[in-house]
Amino acid sequence: MERFDIIVLGAGIVGASSAWHLLRRGRTVAIVDRRGPGEETSFGNAGLVERDGFLPMHFPESLGELMRFATNRTSQVHYHLGALPSLAPYLLAMRAGSHPSRFPAYAAAMAPLMARTVEEHRMIANAAGAGHLFRDTGGLRLYRTPEGIAGGKVSRDFADRYGAPYKILSRDEAIELEPNLKPDFAGAVWWNDVISSSSPGGVTKRYAEGAQKDGAKLFTGDARSLKREGDAWTVTTSAGPVTAATVLVALGPWSSDVLEPMGYRYPFGVIRGYHRHYKPIGNASLARPVFDMTNGYVITPMEKGIRLTSGYEFAFRDAPPTPVQIDRDLPLARELFPLGETVDDAAWLGRRPCLPDSLPVIGAAPKHPGLFFNFGHSHLGFTLGPVTGRLAAEMIAGTRPFADPTPFAPTRFG
Ligand SMILES: Cc1cc2nc3c(=O)[nH]c(=O)nc-3n(C[C@H](O)[C@H](O)[C@H](O)COP(=O)(O)OP(=O)(O)OC[C@H]3O[C@@H](n4cnc5c(N)ncnc54)[C@H](O)[C@@H]3O)c2cc1C
Repeated sequence: MERFDIIVLGAGIVGASSAWHLLRRGRTVAIVDRRGPGEETSFGNAGLVERDGFLPMHFPESLGELMRFATNRTSQVHYHLGALPSLAPYLLAMRAGSHPSRFPAYAAAMAPLMARTVEEHRMIANAAGAGHLFRDTGGLRLYRTPEGIAGGKVSRDFADRYGAPYKILSRDEAIELEPNLKPDFAGAVWWNDVISSSSPGGVTKRYAEGAQKDGAKLFTGDARSLKREGDAWTVTTSAGPVTAATVLVALGPWSSDVLEPMGYRYPFGVIRGYHRHYKPIGNASLARPVFDMTNGYVITPMEKGIRLTSGYEFAFRDAPPTPVQIDRDLPLARELFPLGETVDDAAWLGRRPCLPDSLPVIGAAPKHPGLFFNFGHSHLGFTLGPVTGRLAAEMIAGTRPFADPTPFAPTRFG
């Protein structure tokens, strides 16, 4: 039986980054995943490392917007009717968690993390040889109407308060920045200080390899085999049992599979999303992610082509894929950028691991000694992986955490 100080369950961006930080704090680390690093949610996102995550996930405030989503024909939201009764408790809780009265507290909780997202990625990327997978051209949020730009002010006010820089651009200024954009929008906001990746899965793999280079061992195994024996935790892997005094659950949307049998019932919601890659027509190119804020999809230049990433799908986590949003997004995206043929056989399906207050769960489990959590990063996990990896590692190591972890407390749902 191999013994370590810590077993990290999950080799997505959260697990890989946590392992990297734990090694920096002198711990011996085993990483256990049933697949290779970065092959699930961290593989297929839009690649944005954001600085302006100051608002919780959006829940429709007006009856008109709710009715529009209820038609189930929008590009922003798709749902499986049969899943709604089971998802209703999560949706009701999310509605409360997304209420504008919560914005200031949410922004205050996120501000110290948001201030370091880019810096923390750069640090691991440089050490792990992943720097070439990032570009520092910022991200562009496009609005189809002037009202849309005005509506984004709530978020920009928090950005002003917490020092996240941006520039409001006219349509012509945005086209100067991205000359292949078509003029079918009213204006844009350029978050000029953020970075984005041409391969989020590649980044995650490199971070896990960086951890291995620093001494971590990667094992293939099923996290559901986790057992407490005496004063240690054991997981069965293809190389035999692995044991440690401490275990960190970083299983993203699968965290509940391990936690529920142990008596931890989080109000977890999995919000699905899709991507598909397209060739640009002719010599058209894109230098940064472009988020169509009016229609809720993103186009990002990736290694494989232009990645079209969809909005939110409410469905059972393991239901078969229904990528209708990609079909709805494609003509809208073609209004903005000359997208040609797809290069993929099918759309990729991903699962955003979400809690109703849009905050991750980070810290010590209340009922089991040596059990720690770092999951639930919702739509911002690629952004937050390195910075919450640091926070979790500091808490495990017993050093002073760089940010107040109270808003992320595992006990906050009772
Ligand atoms: C369409 C889409 C677009 C997105 N765009 C962005 C974006 O632009 N920017 C951003 O910041 N975030 C974005 N996100 C969110 C982000 O991708 C996620 O929050 C993040 O990847 C979650 O990382 P994770 O490490 O928690 O989970 P994962 O990457 O899913 O890692 C969990 C790991 O656990 C492993 N695992 C699961 N069950 C078991 C088991 N029983 N035993 C062993 N191993 C197991 C899996 O194999 C996996 O490797 C997007 C998400 C989606 C779906």
